[in-house]
Parts: sequence; C-alpha cells; structure tokens
Amino acid sequence: MSDNKAEIWLAQHPEIDSIFACVCDLNGTMRGKRVPVDQLSKVIDGGLRMPLSIVGMDIWGEDVENSELVFETGDSDGLCDFTGRPLMPVTWTSRPTALAMLWMRQEEGAPFPGDPRRALSRIAEQYKELGLTPVVATELEFYLVDPSEDYPQAPRSPVTGKRLESDGAMSLDELQHFDEFLNDVYDACELQGIPADAAISENGAGQFEINMRHVADPLRAADDAVLFKRLVRGIARKHGLAATFMAKPYGDLSGSGFHTHFSLIDENGINVFDNGGDEGTPLLLNAVAGLLATMQQNTLTFAPHENSYRRLLPGAHAPTSVSWGYENRTAAIRIPGGDPIARRIEHRVAGADANPYLVLASILGGALLGIENEMQPAAPITGNAYSMNLDNLPLDWATAIDAFRKGADVPTIFSKRLQTMLVECKMQELRKFARYVTKFEYDSYLEIV
Ligand code: GLU
Ligand code: MG
Ligand code: MG
Repeated sequence: MSDNKAEIWLAQHPEIDSIFACVCDLNGTMRGKRVPVDQLSKVIDGGLRMPLSIVGMDIWGEDVENSELVFETGDSDGLCDFTGRPLMPVTWTSRPTALAMLWMRQEEGAPFPGDPRRALSRIAEQYKELGLTPVVATELEFYLVDPSEDYPQAPRSPVTGKRLESDGAMSLDELQHFDEFLNDVYDACELQGIPADAAISENGAGQFEINMRHVADPLRAADDAVLFKRLVRGIARKHGLAATFMAKPYGDLSGSGFHTHFSLIDENGINVFDNGGDEGTPLLLNAVAGLLATMQQNTLTFAPHENSYRRLLPGAHAPTSVSWGYENRTAAIRIPGGDPIARRIEHRVAGADANPYLVLASILGGALLGIENEMQPAAPITGNAYSMNLDNLPLDWATAIDAFRKGADVPTIFSKRLQTMLVECKMQELRKFARYVTKFEYDSYLEIV
C-alpha cells in the first residue's frame, strides 16, 4: 500500500489516531507497538522494525541470553512486512484505533523462519505447487470468567446476577444471558472481516464456542483465529467480563478446543475428498494417514503448555489416542457425515490455547506428507476410542517437547530453524514452570502441625 493508499484509508477513518502494529509470536499472541496514525505509510510499506526475539525467544523473559538462535545475531531487528490484510478497526479500546497485521523478514530480506505465519505460508505454497487449495474452517471454544476473582470462577449472569452453573451444551438461556456481549463480538468480527458463524453455549459454566465459516485460504483462516481470540478478550473486558482460551481453566469442567475442519479443492474448485459417498476418496485416506503418522511428533503444536495436557483426558470429547473414525467424537480425527460435496477432515487435537498458524501448518503439512507419499491409514475405529488399546498421544508436556525435538518429519513440515526455536522456547517455559510449587503440594506435603 503506497502513501496514496494510506491517505485514502486515513480519509475514510478520520476518527482513528493510532495503530497497533502487530506480529504473532510462537505462542500465538500478538505483540507489537502502538504508533501514531501519521506513521501509517511506514507501517504499510514495511518500514517498521522490531527485535526478532519478540516472536520467539523472549516470551518468558529469561534464559534468552543462552539462546544461540536469535541471539547469534545480537538480537538484531527484523523488518515488519504488511500482510496485506486491510487495517482493522478496534472497537474495545478507549478511543478508536486500528490494527495492522505484519510478519517478519530478516534484515537481508529472507522471511524470518521463526515467525509462525511464515511456517504456514511455506505449506500453503507447497499446496499451490500441486494445484490444490486447502479450504479451512476453525472452531474456537472459550470461557467467560469473572475478572474480579483471583482464580477463574464462572461469571455472574447479566440477567439474574447469579453465578452461572453449567447448563449443559447448547443452552439457549446461557446464550441469551450474554447476548449483549455476543452482539458486540459479532459486530466487531464484521468490522475486522472475521467470518464468525454459529455461536453455541458449550458444556462448562460460561463456556462458549464460535465457529468460523470456511475460507479457501489457510493463512486467512489462521489470521482470523488469532484476531478473533484478541477480539473476544477485548470485548469481554468492555462488558466487565474476562474471556480465556486457556485449554483447561477448571479441572472438573470440559476443556476448550480448537477444532479444524479442512478439505482440498483443485483448480476447478472441486473437493478432492469427495467421491460421492460417505467414505471419501483415496486422497482423503492418504491425508488421514499423514496426519496419524505425524500426530505424536506434532502434539506440541496442538498442546503447547503444561495446562494443555489437562484437557487431553478420556471422556471429555478431547482425544487421547492416535485414531480416526467416521462420525466419531472420541477419535483424534473425525470424518463428519453429511453431504459428500462437503466431505472433509475434522482434526480435534488442538486446544484453544494453541497457536493457529502452527496448528494449521502441522495439520496441512502432515496431510501433505501423506498425500505425497500415498500413505495408507490403519482401519478407522468404530466405538469408543477411550476404551481401546491404541497408541497414545504424548500425554504430558515434556514428552511432547521431546517428540517434537526428535520428530523426523518436523524439519520437513516446519524447517529446522523453527523446530529448534520452538523447542528452546518451550524448554524455557518448562524450566520456569518447574520452579513453581503448587497449592496441592503445600496442602498435601507441608505437614505443618
Ligand atoms: N470441549 C471439547 C474439547 O476440549 C470439544 C467438545 C466438542 O466436541 O465440541 O476439545
Ligand atoms: Mg465444541
Ligand atoms: Mg468440532
């Protein structure tokens, strides 16, 4: 966008006096600067610089000086390219602002491989070379919580003033109690070009899910998910609430997932998974086989934090095994029924706390590996995956980090640099976590009489 375009945009939005210029870090959090609006053309023309470490290595604020990855260059600045997504009004700040989505390039011009958006872009390019386009729809679950409490507690209903109790999935009452919040979410999504579709009230008290309509552009789908999470948190705050995409905020209530549905279309727009029947084409089977073969290596991208592993429990509609099946919500991969024209894969492993760019890169990269190598999956399961003798997903964080570090397919899907960087970043976080003593331990082992 040239100066001229910046000027046109400014003329159309005279109320906006500052811009949030953001990149996305390895944990899926947007980070960046607030710049006065007169610097808009600099933002749009790639003139903004930010330290490379903000994307990956400084998330936890320690140990970074030991990293040879970013700091081998003295943590030089990266150049921030405009992604091309039109600027988006932000309605939940005290004054109207706008958000610009950027991604990082190294000083010498090459894309910065530690930027998670770059990782997904690589995979999208590989599909393009095969004449295929992934069509992606995501589903994000989250909890509304009471921000006045130290630990998450269900919010009070704006209608009754009573603290919410779980009303089961798809409670219309719960949707209606929070309709002012939801109205604002939908309005803000429209302004930001996020294709929000159905909203449901989920199982947990104060838990909701909003689905996105499918888009034939995986980068766009991941951008939408990242933006959506920020937007929901902002709108919740405006309503005196807090929203969390943490995978398992309450030990005894259902976790929050990030399901991804995808199919592939060819250059004529034909869904290459559709064979007119229920079972799908051989290409669908190849894709499923690739997903199963890479699932354990890539679990870290689906479940990136200590807390993520509390969600992966039997009987919670969250998978625990490397499994697939038709219309089966106990499996990691479900092939939904319905009109064959929409035959697709639902990948159910990721939690809502995962980075959408890395999740989509894992999924689409795994499927691609299966397609290119004509891999064949084991037979689909029928019945309850939780009671079968199947290979497990890594069910704790350290095991998942190790599986990602050793994963033979990881450098192919992500690049060696991103593999090392994510492992370093997660090890920092794990070391930090290891120094915390939990309340359970004090309660159980302190034994002060
Ligand atoms: N909340 C479940 C999860 O943690 C998913 C429930 C559903 O099938 O929508 O993934
Ligand atoms: Mg759900
Ligand atoms: Mg789902």
